[in-house]
This record gives sequence, C-alpha cells and structure tokens, in this order.
Amino acid sequence: MQRNDLISCHDCGVLYRRRPLAPREKARCVRCGSVLYRGAPPRLNRVAAITLGAIIVFLIAQFFPIVELDVNGYTVSATLLGAIRVLWQEQMQAVAVSVLLFTFVFPAIELGALLYVTLALRAGYQPPGFHRLLRAVRKARQWGMTEVLMIGILITLIKMTSLAKVVAQPGLFAFGALTLLLTVVVSFDPRALWLMGDGLAARDKPQQDRPMRYKALEGARPPLACHACGLVAADSGKGHGQRQHCARCGSTLHRRLPDSISRTWALLLGAAILYIPANLLPVMYTHSLFGKEDDTIISGVVYFWNSGSPALAAIIFIASIVVPVAKLAALALLATTSQRGSRWRPRQRTVLYRLVEFVGRWSMLDIFVITLTVGLVRFSSLAVITAGPGALAFCAVVVLTMLASMQFDPRLIWDAVDHKKSGEKNA
Ligand SMILES: [Zn+2]
Ligand SMILES: [Zn+2]
Repeated sequence: MQRNDLISCHDCGVLYRRRPLAPREKARCVRCGSVLYRGAPPRLNRVAAITLGAIIVFLIAQFFPIVELDVNGYTVSATLLGAIRVLWQEQMQAVAVSVLLFTFVFPAIELGALLYVTLALRAGYQPPGFHRLLRAVRKARQWGMTEVLMIGILITLIKMTSLAKVVAQPGLFAFGALTLLLTVVVSFDPRALWLMGDGLAARDKPQQDRPMRYKALEGARPPLACHACGLVAADSGKGHGQRQHCARCGSTLHRRLPDSISRTWALLLGAAILYIPANLLPVMYTHSLFGKEDDTIISGVVYFWNSGSPALAAIIFIASIVVPVAKLAALALLATTSQRGSRWRPRQRTVLYRLVEFVGRWSMLDIFVITLTVGLVRFSSLAVITAGPGALAFCAVVVLTMLASMQFDPRLIWDAVDHKKSGEKNA
C-alpha cells in the first residue's frame, strides 16, 4: 500500500522515484524547481551534538540577562522572559503569549524532540512517540522565530543607547550563538529521520506482505502523499465522510488540502481588516518627565530615520510595512489565479509561494522590539512605556497571514496545468 522509494514534490505534487545521490547532491523537481531531498543522510552523531549544543545555549539565552542598562550609576538588567512578564501584567496577554510561543516554546519543542529522536535512532531503536515527535519538530520549526528575535534584540539595544549606557550580558551572546546553531539544525530534514526510523522498524519485524505493497499502486487512482512525513501511499478510495490516515505517521491524507482556497481567503480577509487598526492605533505609549507620547508603527520608523539610523528605519519599514502588504497581495494573487484555474506562469507562482512562506515570520520583528523596549524601560524606571492596542492588531495580522500561507496548497497552482495536459491526451 505504501512505498518508501517514491517521493511526491511538496510544491507541485509530481511523483518521483528516489535514487541514490552523491553526498553533496540535491534532487530538485524538474517542473517547479523545489528541493525534493538531499544526497547524504544526516549523520546522527553530528545532529545530536549540534542539537545538544543548541539546547545548552538556548537555556543560557533564556535564563541569563540579555542586557544591562546603566542610568547614572543605577543598573538594571532584563531577560526575555522578564520582558514578556511585563507585557502580561500590562493586559497585553495575547501578545505576551504569542511572543512566548514564538521565541521560547516552539524552539524548545523543536530542539528537545529532535535530540530525543536522534539519540534513540543513534542507539538503534525507534523510540516511543517517534512519529508524533517528528511531526512536532516540523510544526514547531514553522513557528519558531529565534533569528527574527535576534535582530529585534539588536534594534532594541541600538534604540536604548540614546537613553542609557548599554552593557551586553551573557544572554545576548547566547542568543547570537543560538541563531547560528539553529541555522544548522534547520538544515536537517525530519523526513530523512523518518526514513531511518522506517529502516530500524523493518529490521525489527522483517517481511510483512512486502512484495504486495508495490502492486496496489498500479490502480486507476493516483497515489496520495503525506504532508507531514512525505510517505506515498495508494489511495484507498474512501468517500467524503471517511478519512485515510498515513500508515507511517498517522496524519490525515488529502489529495489537496481541504477547502484550501476558501480558508486562505477567510484568513486573508481577517488579516487585511486588522491591518488598518494595526497601522492607525498606537503600538506604544510613553510617559516620561518630558510628557506623554503615542507611537504608531510608522512613527517608530520616522523616529529611527530622524535619530540618524536610516538603516534601522529601512529594516523596520520593510519588515512591518512592506512585507505584510506584499504578503497579502501575493497570497491574494495565488488564491485568485488558482481559483480561476489559471495556467499563467505556474513556476514563477510557485517561487512566489515559497517566498511568502519564507518571509512571513519577519513581520514579527516590530512586536519583539516593542516587547523588549517595554520590559527594559520598565525595569530602568527611565519612563513608563506600555504596549498599545496597535501591537495586538499587528500581532494578529502576522499570525493570520502565516496561517493563510500554510492553508494555501501550492499544488493547486499546477492542477490547471495537469488538467490541460490530460485533456490533450484524451482528445
Ligand atoms: Zn515540483
Ligand atoms: Zn505521514
């Protein structure tokens, strides 16, 4: 019923037969250009060592102060978790929870689960909860935002130098190291670990109806590929009410994500509506000896521009204004063209989709800067800065557009192309 030697392109759905590759080789889809799989299987010792290193650095980054502010000899320091707690106490619970999830919970799940799975595979067995944990690694990876946080920390520090003397603390260096280690960790494809786990399971219980498996594929229905682990299985032809589950990892199998386009539209509409208050309402209130000030996202950009940091102004402008608008426009274009069955530039539209997936998380940058600013300034009693309702709306826009891009099934782009081809064949 299922085949390990087949691989379905994640972005366009074409089936390929796996073949052995040279260690540095990558197999790419000839139709849409996305990477199918890599040559060398990950070396478990290396994966385990780097993941363990990342966990140690993660703990230092989270529990040691990031920065110390020196205001006329009076010093204060702050951790990320401390800053999140300040947001929570200010009735910004939804923003505080989002920041906690993206910067603490999801990276912790990814690293913890990956270490557990690789250590077990290294010891030569498939551990309990193997499939569930690898699925968790994949999900957590989509939502972890350590690299965005790192840039947010740097921007906050530069902002603070105008208020006080800023002294870097161990947490700052640990976040830098964590960002570097995580770029190595995300280059491990969990699907390769799935194959290794399969190899071990097959060794433990040999020869169970193996030759039969390959026959089932030759039926009239094209096979289904699992979104989570990539296993290709024959379509059992179950009707609408019944669901077929992946024999390996247990995920529900779909030919295409159900109601992909209408769900994408609903999430996009929500994001577009919230985008208005996100830009009009203040994201920060400042009360100081010099008076009271409200900051919107765009006034934050203007502040950096006027205070002689045009590069920072440009980064925040791109991350907070350009990226969300471009993402809304790109997803609207993808949804419209797929809905109409357009055959216009499918390869370029697939690249656009990959780009949207890649840049989505960077819009959280301003939220991280706000969190750290609110936390640091509160501890230093220079002024009282509180987060405003604009931050909540903005956070919702980012989450909704990320969900919208995850709901969109890129294979829909290619369905019109396939449809035309099969029509030509039949004629
Ligand atoms: Zn493809
Ligand atoms: Zn699966």
